[in-house]
Amino acid sequence: MPILDLSKPLYFTDDWEIAEKTYAINNPTTGKTILNIADCGVKEAKRAVKIADESFLLWRQKTAFERSKILMNWYELILEHVEELAQTMTLEMAKPIRESRGEVAYAAGFVNWYAEEAKRVYGETFPSHMANKRAMMIKQPVGPVFAITPWNFPLAMLTRKAAPALAAGCTVILKPAEQTPISALLLAKLWQDAGGPSGTLQVLPCEKPAELSELIIADPRIRKITFTGSTKVGKLLYKQSAETVKKISLELGGHAPFIIFEDADIELAVKEVVASKFRNSGQTCVCTNRIYTHSSIVSEFARAYAKSAQNLVVGDPADDTTDIGPLVNQASLQKVSSHVDDALSKGARIITGGKALHGLFYAPTVITDIKDNMLIMQEESFGPIAPIISFDSEEEVLKMANNTEYGLAAYIYTNNLSRAYKVAEALEYGIIGVNDGVPSAPYAPFGGLKQSGLGREGGKWGIEEFLETKYISVSLTQ
Ligand code: NAD
Repeated sequence: MPILDLSKPLYFTDDWEIAEKTYAINNPTTGKTILNIADCGVKEAKRAVKIADESFLLWRQKTAFERSKILMNWYELILEHVEELAQTMTLEMAKPIRESRGEVAYAAGFVNWYAEEAKRVYGETFPSHMANKRAMMIKQPVGPVFAITPWNFPLAMLTRKAAPALAAGCTVILKPAEQTPISALLLAKLWQDAGGPSGTLQVLPCEKPAELSELIIADPRIRKITFTGSTKVGKLLYKQSAETVKKISLELGGHAPFIIFEDADIELAVKEVVASKFRNSGQTCVCTNRIYTHSSIVSEFARAYAKSAQNLVVGDPADDTTDIGPLVNQASLQKVSSHVDDALSKGARIITGGKALHGLFYAPTVITDIKDNMLIMQEESFGPIAPIISFDSEEEVLKMANNTEYGLAAYIYTNNLSRAYKVAEALEYGIIGVNDGVPSAPYAPFGGLKQSGLGREGGKWGIEEFLETKYISVSLTQ
């Protein structure tokens, strides 16, 4: 039996409801409509805030052990439905199916982690300056949360926010990306099946989010905003949140440098940069955007890298052998094409790829003779294109790598331990992979410096974003 029957345009508040308006979800691979989905607006948003506020009062009173148990049930149900969740994701946003299965496990990992972490929200006692006083600090849930997620990780970005929020005792209104609401609705159904109380996790799909989102953010009952998406939209939400002084976490764009020193294991570097660059067809925030290679090995590296890129299987993402599927939509294809065209017009040279194929497919591309004024060096490409830049010294490459407003992920390839530490400490990025092209994990802090964001998700740090610190001073009577 499917997780959820979506023959009607459902959305999820304190129960399943049928929307008055709908919009079409299209499969990026075929261009065909998958189904018509609920299109929520201001009316639904107003009701959702009321429900989130009311159910918060009940959810926060559950013990951490009760919340933990429900989260653990959710985790188990997600793992029981790996295939349906993975197939849905591949249908909605064209992630190659092997990667989709990997994402289900990754998404479930956050639920498992926070099911355990719910029981470790500790307070502290500390000395007072007065003999008759006792001082302590307790942690409490911040309140109802509004979460906005992107299309590129439809499940993992949802659980990375909802699991710690729910574990902390917060209720969540989730607005999924307009391209990937089905995945979110399936997770909500599994939350309900796991015993998640009514109104604790609501999902409001919507085609044009600005109005709905603004209304929810303006409401003082919502105490926390958590967003993953572009820096442009993140800045807008940051401004909107100021009016009611909400807590906010922002996981925004990146422009990751991948630095290969002359003492690196080139074979390993090629393997890992392929994983880091071409995962999700180049559409991840931690994807390599710039490959800096020491001048003494740049030719050898470029040859081996181009060969690996040529060997990638471009095709139907539903096929088990596919490495690279189509891009998510026309705007993404245009952005990738414009980055390559701009680089070529400024003197770059294509080693492999460099062209749009059919539909929304773009060939895995390796490009060299790069200059700083090229768009590819300044903006997130979000596609399967990789520029190679040569460098001569550690000092020079550090300067180039840090020369961006972004600061999410960076990668270093070297067999010199001292260099690995020094460079990792000097890079202005929130996540550093040393000989590791895929460092993200549910137990680790994920987040960016500079304009890549605020706050951290994952690990013991992720739940802190949904907690308030309260100081209690007790004066003892004589
Ligand atoms: P986007 O900012 O366009 O959309 C992200 C979400 O914001 C979607 O749900 C969208 O509907 C919503 N949104 C758009 N305009 C809005 C508005 N005016 N008000 C409220 N909500 C609005 O980004 P995208 O194209 O979906 O995702 C790709 C971006 O996300 C990239 O920049 C990528 O780097 C970033 N990203 C970051 C992380 C991270 O953890 N740092 C992870 C994944 C993706």
